[in-house]
Amino acid sequence: MDNDLTRRTFLGCTAATIGALAAAPQLEDLVKNRPPLAASAFYRLPLTSVKPAGWLKDQLRIQAEGITGHLGEFWPDVGSNSAWLGGSGEGWERGPYYLDGLLPLAYLLDDPKLIAKVKPWVDWTLDRQRPDGSIGPEKNKDWWPIMIMLKVLTQFQEATGDARVIPVMEKYFAYQSRMLPTEPLKSWAIYRWQDELASLLWLYNRTGDAKLLDLAHQLKAQGFDWRKFYEHFPFTGRIAPGQDKHESHGVNHAMALKTAALWYLVSHDPADRSGTELMLAMLDKFESLPNGIFSADEHFAGRNPSQGIELCAVVEAMFSLELDLAVLGDPRLGDRLEKIAFNPLPGGQTADQWSHQYDQQPNQALVSLGRRDWTTNGPESNLFGLEPNFGCCTANLHQGWPKFTASLWMASADDGLAVAAYAPCEVRTKIKGVDVLVEEDTGYPFRDKIGLTVSPASPLRFPLHLRIPEWTRDPVVVAGGQNAEGLRPGTYHRIEREWRKGDRVEITLPMPVRAIEGFNGSVSVERGPLVYSLRIGEAWSKLKQTGPVADWEVYPTSPWNYGLRVDLKNPSTSIQVREAPIARQPFNNSSPPVALEAKARRLPQWVIVDDSAAPPPQGPVTSRLEDAPVTLIPYAAARLRITSFPVLGPDQPGIREPQ
Ligand SMILES: [Zn+2]
Repeated sequence: MDNDLTRRTFLGCTAATIGALAAAPQLEDLVKNRPPLAASAFYRLPLTSVKPAGWLKDQLRIQAEGITGHLGEFWPDVGSNSAWLGGSGEGWERGPYYLDGLLPLAYLLDDPKLIAKVKPWVDWTLDRQRPDGSIGPEKNKDWWPIMIMLKVLTQFQEATGDARVIPVMEKYFAYQSRMLPTEPLKSWAIYRWQDELASLLWLYNRTGDAKLLDLAHQLKAQGFDWRKFYEHFPFTGRIAPGQDKHESHGVNHAMALKTAALWYLVSHDPADRSGTELMLAMLDKFESLPNGIFSADEHFAGRNPSQGIELCAVVEAMFSLELDLAVLGDPRLGDRLEKIAFNPLPGGQTADQWSHQYDQQPNQALVSLGRRDWTTNGPESNLFGLEPNFGCCTANLHQGWPKFTASLWMASADDGLAVAAYAPCEVRTKIKGVDVLVEEDTGYPFRDKIGLTVSPASPLRFPLHLRIPEWTRDPVVVAGGQNAEGLRPGTYHRIEREWRKGDRVEITLPMPVRAIEGFNGSVSVERGPLVYSLRIGEAWSKLKQTGPVADWEVYPTSPWNYGLRVDLKNPSTSIQVREAPIARQPFNNSSPPVALEAKARRLPQWVIVDDSAAPPPQGPVTSRLEDAPVTLIPYAAARLRITSFPVLGPDQPGIREPQ
């Protein structure tokens, strides 16, 4: 019996391993936009072209060892009885959401065990298409979850070259085109049609079937008009009671961030091309939080840093920005993408990636079961756990790191390569028929130096587009021993030369400390793409255990209510930088790779209200206490944190307590 089990396990592993090896496709020529679609600045490389290295590979491995690699073993919604596996269980969005992250993780890590988990789901959808062209569980009558599964199928095709994907998608889109006049988009699908548009354009670029563009227009006509909505943006902060509709829903807006850029490819309309910028400007003005994303707990909540943002919105905004950056080639979109990837993405999860929050707060003085001033969310929302408040994020969080990794490098329209975001990785692609490998070694975003080793199989002339972030000062790029001239923050720097195997590019992006003004005149501190938060002592208290996942409250064991002593014009003078080794879990409270030392003063008048830090008092502030040293650590390393500080003013005569 034991022998039999061992043998079956052995054969199972071997089959999976062979499957993984056979799955690696040959480097293929890039698929660009096919007329009449407008050209993109960049093109996302097929999944598995960019592989993680260094600390980022550790993050993906930790993810595989955490909830992502094991969720189906104990969470029935993505377990073996899922209707997406032919069972009688969940048959709506949760299976596809999970696959949308598990699949790229599995192939980016070349992990046979994870690939073996992915395959039955994909096979079931591909092999059970009904004669009319419909796919997915028979009981599902909603277009929305299929939109997610289409994203899964495109990634699967890119990773494996599987010949079933394109015919299934063609037949499905023909079916949908026939059905939409009588079975129109409803509910979520009205607001999320642009997520299907991404897959539809992906297929059009591969087949050139003009009927797909007709379907794109059908979806647009039935879908929500996001551009018009943002041209008359009705919110100026927190929604009023009763306004909690689809139009104010955070995840809908995070997904909608891709609409203008994708639709521009179809419309060629300059107002669509500039639509992404308009959306971001409105969100920045009325709803932005200091962690790089807007507030929505579950709906728009204004700029108070004690409001929250849902983890689904974090990962969906990242995916939207990845697509936007490809179309528009705007380096500032890369700055935004990095800010979300390095701050709220890891900040909403425990360092071991087993537990997550539904809503995270930039000013998060307490994590507890309690009634907070959310727009509509419940008392569990800021717990770290399995499915605090609602299980959507439990199913959907997985796409964050893998899709970010896959998007680090893109092909440029001028037959070169472009950096979307910096992190340790390697990219393998084909340029003008020649295999090219670029290895990126860096401790970024914890360090300011990035090294590239460029290795074409034979000497080859092509351009590299290096993103020079808007926040850097006096950047330096040395390529093949030559100093690049004319580097400007907030632009792409293009280097075209003949590259030979092993050529080095050394990039230095100095990261001055910045003080960013925000809500009520408060400041947050940034350095490079990292946002910094007050380190607060954390006491973790377990509420319950579900399988391997615990739900946690976190209580502060040190003060949190400080005003910050900072020279707004020249913050480096009052804040010192200290580097430490990069641990395997870099986003940890006790030994973060970089920390800032600053001076601050307790403000007894700043207290907890409704289990959250009250809004930061309008500065300049002072108190009768003394200045004290404080440590700021990366936002995501601080699960209790203060990110927006009132600014200390000069002491008034007489206000100090007599000593
Ligand atoms: Zn969610």
